Amino acid sequence: MKDYCLRATAANGMIRAFVATSRHMVNEASHIHQTSAVATAALGRLLTATAIMGLTLGNDDNLVTVSIKGDGSLGGALATADGLGRVRGYVNNPLAHAPDRTDGKLNVGSAIGAGQLTVIMDLGLKEAYTGTTELITGEIADDLAHYYMTSEQIPSVIALGVLVDTDLSVKQAGGYFLQLMPGYSDELVDKLEAHITAFAPLSQLLDEGKTAEDILDMLLSPFVYEVVSRHEIVFSCNCNRERVEKVLISIGRDEIEEIIAEQGKAELNCHFCNKSYEFSKADLESILK
Ligand code: ZN
Repeated sequence: MKDYCLRATAANGMIRAFVATSRHMVNEASHIHQTSAVATAALGRLLTATAIMGLTLGNDDNLVTVSIKGDGSLGGALATADGLGRVRGYVNNPLAHAPDRTDGKLNVGSAIGAGQLTVIMDLGLKEAYTGTTELITGEIADDLAHYYMTSEQIPSVIALGVLVDTDLSVKQAGGYFLQLMPGYSDELVDKLEAHITAFAPLSQLLDEGKTAEDILDMLLSPFVYEVVSRHEIVFSCNCNRERVEKVLISIGRDEIEEIIAEQGKAELNCHFCNKSYEFSKADLESILK
């Protein structure tokens, strides 16, 4: 079964909800980047959240990028997604380690550390919208909820969960967003707050075999709701030789001549998918022309 995200509206459009399962996508990302357990959890949470955020934009070719810079062993992470559920991303140090938390969970907050979260939304307009907020816990879900509240004035309940098995494979992964739309009442806030405090952690719910439909129903049970769309979520990189060549051209004639003289060829890796592109001496010389 594939990963997917359900989008729903509830309480006469005052609540929008997204529930995603992402185990296959996160597992693929962990294989591509050869991540440690805590790096898999961090990358998996960020990719899942970014995929959901891509689906909030409303247009297929809009892009959202979430970049985290922290002083922990992970060094930072970045993910980017479109409006079709396609997401890609990386962490700066895939081999990062952090001692487990006292409750036995992977310590994503420690691996990320203190720093900032930046969201860039490219809606196809002249300028992209950029917002930066301080990290609250480095656990990513809290940090994104804080971002939505301070930058977009959207109260949000965000949960992200990645369970990594002892063999480093991804056992469960998913995420949900519950967001209040402009015009919501205090009464609705109270009702939602009273309802959501009762839930087990998301990774536990997924591990119990709950589907996205089950979780959505649990989250929105006190309200009248409607599922409005269902999108597949996949790890997908759109890099190609032409784009990599443009990067090579952008470094300038002197640099390319130096590479020819010193190494005789160039090898460039895509940050997002680790695919390597080799340029022979002849390729580099033809670029110079
Ligand atoms: Zn790539």
